[in-house]
Amino acid sequence: MFNKVLIANRGEIALRILRACKELGIQTVAVHSTADANAMHVKLADESVCIGPPASRDSYLNIHEIMAACEITGADAIHPGYGFLSENAKFADVLEAHNITFIGPSANHIRVMGDKIEAKKTAKNLGIPVVPGSDGEVRENDEAMRVASEIGYPVIIKAAAGGGGRGMRVVNNEKEMKQALQTTRSEAGAAFGDDAVYIEKFLGKPRHIEIQVMGDGKGGGIHLWERDCSLQRRHQKVWEEAVSPALDDAARKKIGDICAKAIQGLGYSGAGTIEFLYEDGEFYFIEMNTRLQVEHPVTEMITRIDLVNEQLRVASGQGMSVTQDDVLLTGHAIECRINAEHPRTFVPSPGEITYYHPPGGLGVRVDSGVYQGYKIPPHYDSLIGKLIVHARTREECLMRLRRALDEFVIEGVETTLPLFRDLVTNDDMQTGDYDIHWLEKYLAEQNV
Ligand code: ADP
Repeated sequence: MFNKVLIANRGEIALRILRACKELGIQTVAVHSTADANAMHVKLADESVCIGPPASRDSYLNIHEIMAACEITGADAIHPGYGFLSENAKFADVLEAHNITFIGPSANHIRVMGDKIEAKKTAKNLGIPVVPGSDGEVRENDEAMRVASEIGYPVIIKAAAGGGGRGMRVVNNEKEMKQALQTTRSEAGAAFGDDAVYIEKFLGKPRHIEIQVMGDGKGGGIHLWERDCSLQRRHQKVWEEAVSPALDDAARKKIGDICAKAIQGLGYSGAGTIEFLYEDGEFYFIEMNTRLQVEHPVTEMITRIDLVNEQLRVASGQGMSVTQDDVLLTGHAIECRINAEHPRTFVPSPGEITYYHPPGGLGVRVDSGVYQGYKIPPHYDSLIGKLIVHARTREECLMRLRRALDEFVIEGVETTLPLFRDLVTNDDMQTGDYDIHWLEKYLAEQNV
């Protein structure tokens, strides 16, 4: 096992990784920008290094400074968390060249999955069902028209290098195609430095269901069931649950087995997530994330497996502590992403937390780096914590979530807590009857 791990991230995920390291007796190094000098992950780490000014590109994305911090402290591995450098193949290459372990998959797997066209081809070859669409890149209008008429309108044009819900455009009919193709290509070129685009069937009312996977890098691989992340706003997940209210045991086992087999075929190492849209009983691959996800705790709650601990084990060469048969499925878990934002307008609300009281009790977990008196800096993502609730059934989980949300007090800044208090009692949410467009429709109705 490693002696010392540097955590190249901030906020709740830095703390989450730090906790797993402490339990394994690993020394921890926090890195931070000048804006995060008082952050909890800095206070709790064994050592900390300031790596630059507030702007992410000068600190949390600054490979040079992070490497220097690694050298000064003698860390033998880096955990990148999510976001920032977590899916940066060049960073993984640099670490390898310096004999420092990147706690994540190989640079090659990051590269393949980072290009959506390559990822889709790879997925298809591994036996994963994909969305019907073009065979790779589409450049000319004629070809785009041919593909679209074959699969049927509406279609969606997507940038190969897109991410974070950007670089996508829906095309409803032939007339819109030429303009849409041109615009999406030039926008992709400007935003991602790569103007390659491809075409897919646009699914009208899918759910977003993703499978957590873990590989040992030597051909061994398992799945840890699914998460349903259909509740989204602007393609950003808001509420995640495991298991999905839309799947039965046979469907969940089938897709899980397909994903586990794919991971074995790839020789994948570490944690990953294979994302699907799910409509009318069919799964359609959209992408694979080669990192730990924000919503990983719901999987941990239903399986009782510590995913960060497993990542550390795999990266250090010890291998996974579990086989597929050890992966339990116990009860139901829901996660609410608590953002420092206005609950209706979603305008960020940085500032000082003047009062903080997190909920507790059976089945309640709060992953957060904030405390009373903490000043939320304006420079980063507005996620300030996650409330995760676990219970024996979905119904019991909703009851417990309602109770936990009532207990949660955060004063001084606006948060999305009131939104969740509304959602938890909503009829569609109670029955689990929602797709990826549900939340935006709900919000539009509420504002009338
Ligand atoms: P990103 O990398 O930007 O997150 P994804 O390919 O994962 O892009 O897609 C993000 C979201 O966009 C999905 O969760 C879904 O809401 C929507 N989306 C993507 N592809 C399709 C499609 N073929 N049909 C309908 N919606 C889609």
